[in-house]
Amino acid sequence: MEELLSIYSLIFGLLIGSFLNVVIYRLPLKKDLTFTRSMCSNCGNTLKWYHNIPIFSFLFLRGKCGFCKSRISWRYPLVELMTGLISFWLFPNTLSAEMLGLYFFYFAIACVFICHFFIDLDHHLLLDHLNIYLLILILPYSFIHFHWSYWLAGGAFGFFIPLLVTWLFYKLRGQVGLGGGDIKLFGILGFLLGPTGIFFTIFLSCLLGAIVGITLIFFNKLTKDRPMAFGPSILAIASFQIFLSEYAFKLQTWFFN
Ligand SMILES: [Zn+2]
Repeated sequence: MEELLSIYSLIFGLLIGSFLNVVIYRLPLKKDLTFTRSMCSNCGNTLKWYHNIPIFSFLFLRGKCGFCKSRISWRYPLVELMTGLISFWLFPNTLSAEMLGLYFFYFAIACVFICHFFIDLDHHLLLDHLNIYLLILILPYSFIHFHWSYWLAGGAFGFFIPLLVTWLFYKLRGQVGLGGGDIKLFGILGFLLGPTGIFFTIFLSCLLGAIVGITLIFFNKLTKDRPMAFGPSILAIASFQIFLSEYAFKLQTWFFN
């Protein structure tokens, strides 16, 4: 029974992953998310149902549009596979209402993170839509599970430290360092991660961002008019802290001692 449910959780994840691809593509373009059928971005043909099966369609079409044969990005099956595996991995071994609730909570966070990640890569935007959705998930959870001083301090730290750094950077260099979306994301994550955790997120994501930035400059992938998206670094570090909290906590205690 439980094994069967795990398989279902994988299939459920794959299907949600397919929907996340639609969100990643349409949300920044302000297109309708539900009622229009998917079409090829090259030839504009409406996809058949069998063009829309997660992973399998990509393999069976050999990564090409069923009509015009233009290449389909490998990112579509990657997002589907990632979402499927995360759902499978998060699904509880023992079933109870509480465990299922936690599964949906963490899976929903993972889904927002995936959309944020790829939209920021493509458009350099952490959309308010997704930040608000994240806030709606995190705030009630933190309200129930943590002492008010924990989430309130976390949120304040997460919002005001990056804001202060950005303001100082602007005063000193006349450049805007972090985007508004980055600052809001830090603030929302602060509610969940608490003051120490969010301090750690800010520190580590700046470190990771710097490493990625230097690597990209080294390989000539970064120019003045094509700066780096910082969101993916924040999301990678926050994922580490939220989904591998045991290891993140070990690193954190090691760091602060
Ligand atoms: Zn096509």
